[in-house]
Amino acid sequence: MVFQYSLIASCTKTRARAGVFSTPHGEVETPRFMPVGTVGTVKGITPAQLQSAHAQMILGNTYHLHIQPGEEIIEKAGGLHNFMGWQQPILTDSGGFQVFSLADLRQITDDGVKFRSPKDGRIINMTPENSIRIQNSLGADVIMAFDECPPATATKEEVVKAVKRTTAWLERCISAHKKPEQQALFGIVQGGIYPELRTQSAKELIEFNLPGYAIGGVSVGEKPELIHQIVQWTTPLLPSNKPRYLMGVGSYKEMVVAIASGIDLFDCVIPTRLGRHGAALVQGERINLKNAQYKEDFTPLDPECDCYTCKNFTRAYLNHLIRAKEMLGYILLSLHNIYELINFTRKIRQAIINDSFVEEFGHYLN
Ligand SMILES: [Zn+2]
Repeated sequence: MVFQYSLIASCTKTRARAGVFSTPHGEVETPRFMPVGTVGTVKGITPAQLQSAHAQMILGNTYHLHIQPGEEIIEKAGGLHNFMGWQQPILTDSGGFQVFSLADLRQITDDGVKFRSPKDGRIINMTPENSIRIQNSLGADVIMAFDECPPATATKEEVVKAVKRTTAWLERCISAHKKPEQQALFGIVQGGIYPELRTQSAKELIEFNLPGYAIGGVSVGEKPELIHQIVQWTTPLLPSNKPRYLMGVGSYKEMVVAIASGIDLFDCVIPTRLGRHGAALVQGERINLKNAQYKEDFTPLDPECDCYTCKNFTRAYLNHLIRAKEMLGYILLSLHNIYELINFTRKIRQAIINDSFVEEFGHYLN
């Protein structure tokens, strides 16, 4: 079987687990942080640099790639892997999150979502069939079901509706999926902050026996304690022989809490977004390299980090680059930030294998 999840080790004190997820473009060692390559590029980072940061699976955004350059061009290039020069695993989202959160003039019906393209103003009708068709053209190893992702402000009635629609749309996604041998379709559990709706959503999705499952609709503006509760509640409901992906989460504490519940995969735009704004993540804390205190700081960004940035440059140099608005500054910071988050999940994985997860990372669980 191509899309196999193999369990390597389990923590004896929590539900944390270390595993390997096989895809047509290679293996993903879990738990793992996945950098986001929105429009077919992890902003500012070359594929070679991504490899040096131990990236295994990266993300592409269906919505953005559909708008620009369009899936036809990517398909002609031989798929997203060839187009962007990345031969390791790729996951594409369904476009749902962007359509629901960014797009103007949305019209949501049981059929799908109509919105105006920000590029040329034309009306785009995003449906489960359309999302899967686009994702089949892009050719990622993992593709995501088109779901309804309600905002944190949604009423319970709206969340009930979104859960119902997400299951109905999943059925249509499965029917539309043309390449189940090459591309694993993951379902997305919705249900907002309501345990009974999360349970209902998970139970309905599991019936389809998909190669993997995600928890969506978190990190859409609710409090961290609520995210923890949702994840702790929902994760154990998902099959243990399939990978579990928590969408849009990438802070130290949130990842440790989720891993302790049995989550395997994460993604977040934070590392590159911070890098583009001259900020770095150092041991999980944000620091702004533009600050005057780093002007004559000739130490590495993080003395304990093995990334290219930390091995070769000082905080003073990074401070200078950011102040001079030199693009290398943003690139070096993004590179470190990506390495930092991936390495954090690599260290956790090793701790799970050594059964020292709680000893080493338990302080994040309090
Ligand atoms: Zn570094």
